[in-house]
Amino acid sequence: QAKGKGRARFCAFEPGMDAHLRDRLAIEGDLLHALPGEQFELVYQPIYNLASERLCGFEALLRWRHPIRGFISPATFIPIAEDTRLIVDIGLWVLRRACHDACLLPDDLKIAINLSPIQLAFGDIVAAVSQALEESGLNPARLELEITETALFTNDQHNLEVLSRLKLMGVKIVLDDFGTGYSSLSHLHLFPLDKIKIDQLFVRDMTLRPESAIIVNAIAMLAFRLGMTTTAEGIETTEQWEAARRSGCTEAQGYLLGKPISIDTAVTIAAAHRCVTETVSGAT
Ligand code: C2E
Ligand code: MG
Ligand code: MG
Ligand code: MG
Repeated sequence: QAKGKGRARFCAFEPGMDAHLRDRLAIEGDLLHALPGEQFELVYQPIYNLASERLCGFEALLRWRHPIRGFISPATFIPIAEDTRLIVDIGLWVLRRACHDACLLPDDLKIAINLSPIQLAFGDIVAAVSQALEESGLNPARLELEITETALFTNDQHNLEVLSRLKLMGVKIVLDDFGTGYSSLSHLHLFPLDKIKIDQLFVRDMTLRPESAIIVNAIAMLAFRLGMTTTAEGIETTEQWEAARRSGCTEAQGYLLGKPISIDTAVTIAAAHRCVTETVSGAT
């Protein structure tokens, strides 16, 4: 991997080069044009409260519409954007766009964005967030910043400082994909976290093995005792929704509840949802 990176930086295309590396080099080159070429867009996936079934917000997810290859998944291009540090500028764009879009939604809804560890390490993320908030006029309490455990627990002294400054601005800090990294439960209280997102692998397992449900339940309880909420990721079936609710998780996100959609559709869904819940609560 490290060797591949080095070669990617210093060599041009060669006939004997393996297809994978050549592909990566091409994507790396194209990625340079993606931001100025306006090839990025954000889609928004709804997040619901498990107890009240109310919509609580959306997670912004990045999409790259490549002019020739079509849609390229963030799982493919984000690692490359991180290696080249392009993620710093891309992340800035995500932040500004998401804050702008959030202002189009009802003001009781939150907007979550994903931060790369590279942004924490090399981007001036505190200044970037503060500027995006100021520019958009978004209430900081509506902004959630998602960071994976691996990102958080490497370089933890620096991250702690950065997160503490972000917290002072009033934004929320969310631990993403919990359960996939190597962190231990005792790490949780070291950071000023507001929410833990339990990874979809865990959620999937919950309905298959009773032990997994017990573990998720313990995580949810621990989080609650530490003053945090929990989100179950990747809910695809009603069984998983029920299991997540029983386990004491606060919120849920997944294809069962809604796939990622454009901001226009998100605005429509939020308005329709509000209508329905108001009618329901008005009738009772
Ligand atoms: P993530 O932050 O954990 O986001 C959740 C991923 O799970 C999304 O994939 C979402 O589409 C997918 N997902 C949601 N519900 C379900 C479900 O029910 N079943 C299944 N199988 N999948 C579901 P996506 O959009 O491909 O993003 C993948 C990852 O790329 C994200 O994982 C996040 O780590 C990263 N990412 C996305 N957007 C950004 C961004 O703007 N900046 C950074 N730094 N990373 C991003
Ligand atoms: Mg996320
Ligand atoms: Mg996640
Ligand atoms: Mg993920």
